[in-house]
Amino acid sequence: MNDIGNFSKFDQINNVVFGGAGFLGSHLIDQLVLKGENVLCIDNLSSGDLQNIYHLKNNEKFSFLNHDICYPLISSKFIEKIWHLACPASPKIYQTDPLNTIRINYEGTLNVLNLAKVHKSKILFTSTSEIYGVTTTNPQYELMPITLPTCSPRACYSEGKRIAETLINTFRVENGLEVKIARVFNTYGPRLNINDGRVIINFIKQSLSKKKLTIYGDGLQTRSFCYVSDLVEGLIKLMNINYCYPVNLGSDEEISILELANLIKSKINSKMLFEYTDLPFDDPKCRRPSLEKSKNLLDWHPKISLSEGLNKTISSYEYVF
Ligand code: UDP
Repeated sequence: MNDIGNFSKFDQINNVVFGGAGFLGSHLIDQLVLKGENVLCIDNLSSGDLQNIYHLKNNEKFSFLNHDICYPLISSKFIEKIWHLACPASPKIYQTDPLNTIRINYEGTLNVLNLAKVHKSKILFTSTSEIYGVTTTNPQYELMPITLPTCSPRACYSEGKRIAETLINTFRVENGLEVKIARVFNTYGPRLNINDGRVIINFIKQSLSKKKLTIYGDGLQTRSFCYVSDLVEGLIKLMNINYCYPVNLGSDEEISILELANLIKSKINSKMLFEYTDLPFDDPKCRRPSLEKSKNLLDWHPKISLSEGLNKTISSYEYVF
């Protein structure tokens, strides 16, 4: 069994970030390090990328361990906080190996919880808006009734995240763990993998490489996109309060996919054409978080508009093409 304490240069570990080489994880680590805290980043690089944490390589507050969360681990050093972000969030990626997606969320979460139990570490889990499934209730609020199909291609992820939430709550009740559950809505920004398949990065890639923008279905389905720095701020605030039930984090600026395509087109190349293709099975028709809880509990609301966030994101990819 891996003793993760051996892979950190610290006497005590402030933060262990599972999935820390991923898009969201690497931005979170940047903020934690900026605050002067030390971080042990754990990732098996299946969807994360060393490039995302390369700039931290020589930082004395940062350590890295290549480890698959599905294998148990121990720590000989005290761990104050655990951030569990380990799971691909792109439908294209998590559906390529559905069994592994389920394993990460069940076995992986169990391993993380057993680690937290030993040290009585605070633990934050990134759950998902996928939990709300295909619904006409808009916005989606944390206590709304949920019906999810167990056999849809998305179920490996949505059901995986649901069982993880239940596991976490069970550990809280049985072991007195201090747990936090963030239900993360669509998030974007620099460092999204260019081949990730999610809509914003697809449209940016297609626009910059002068290909048609692929609109799935009629493009009238909606999403609400949160810029990554806002999301990270919400996660940090959530970790610092004592509240154990799920909390939505995301943007409530709702936009149709067609409007998004036109917005990105207007920013990169107004001559871009669209190509309409089939809507994936079980693709939610609308998605917007109710942010009442996060506002009340965390005094948090995203600050960066979609237009401003897209400008920052696009400029970070221009060098690639
Ligand atoms: N989508 C699209 N074209 C693309 C990629 C995605 O029209 O090239 C649509 C997709 O069908 C969905 C929305 O954009 O309705 C958001 O998809 P994404 O994969 O980013 O995340 P989701 O919210 O579905 O998890």
